[in-house]
Amino acid sequence: MNNDKSAQPLHEFVNAIAELMRGAKALPASAMALDAAIRRTTHSPPTPRENAPVCVIVAPHPDDECIGGGLPLRLLRESGWRVVALAVTHGSNPARQLARADEFIAACASIGFEPMLLAERGLGRVTGHTRETDPSHWAVGVHLLAEKLAALKPALVLCPHALDAQNTHIGTHHLTLDALAVVSANLPNFATTLAFTEYWSTMTRANLLVELTAAHVGDMVSALACHVGEVSRNPFHLTLPGWLIDNVRRGGEIVGMSGGNVPNYTFAAIYNVMRWRDGALHTAGSSGQMVGRDASCGDAFNV
Ligand SMILES: [Zn+2]
Repeated sequence: MNNDKSAQPLHEFVNAIAELMRGAKALPASAMALDAAIRRTTHSPPTPRENAPVCVIVAPHPDDECIGGGLPLRLLRESGWRVVALAVTHGSNPARQLARADEFIAACASIGFEPMLLAERGLGRVTGHTRETDPSHWAVGVHLLAEKLAALKPALVLCPHALDAQNTHIGTHHLTLDALAVVSANLPNFATTLAFTEYWSTMTRANLLVELTAAHVGDMVSALACHVGEVSRNPFHLTLPGWLIDNVRRGGEIVGMSGGNVPNYTFAAIYNVMRWRDGALHTAGSSGQMVGRDASCGDAFNV
């Protein structure tokens, strides 16, 4: 039996990942906060250009703005878009809701997004069940979100897809569409592009794959680590790179032609893009699109 590890390059590859995970998990929360603080002082995030198109991330929880934020990050950096992150809830634990708002603001400062809260402690009970059973409570959230969207007139809105397998994510999907319907009722010419995100469950109709560089992913992990209370409980900032790697495998088959050439990306973000106009959702073209690091995300949205 050959015990020479260097003769087993695939084992070496897996061992190196395991070693890196062990080391990163051992980092204290203070080291994570320091990483983000150093980035804030040494790498000031780009500022949006004047009259820039607006991208709104409707985040079910503080932290989803970083997790799904690959495309907005590229739009900000490459094309000077203004990116507004809207926290819908602050999680279900009342003891953490004010702290989560602070973490959200720190994460946005780290990555360059503009933080916006819907309520001091976030909205409560944003679920499909609430939508069905408590329409008056639901309407309050819809109108709060619609007010923000009408004022921001976003060219692009991100929110979870309809089957994202987590109650608040699914609720946020419906809240966003209901709010857009209110905006359209008041502004009949209102139109925007929607990019549906996934995290808890994969979506069936992904049609956009956006390459991310190691620098993008490093900044996303660092910003995600600003949610110190959450990542101390479950270090999901450390699994973000692995998830973005797997998007290349899946996106290569689903966004591209099945059995075709998978792009030579290491990391990618995956979305389902649709158009919102005349108060309803419409498909946005028939073919999938892949945006490599050298292409322009801004051009991909024709704004
Ligand atoms: Zn979430």
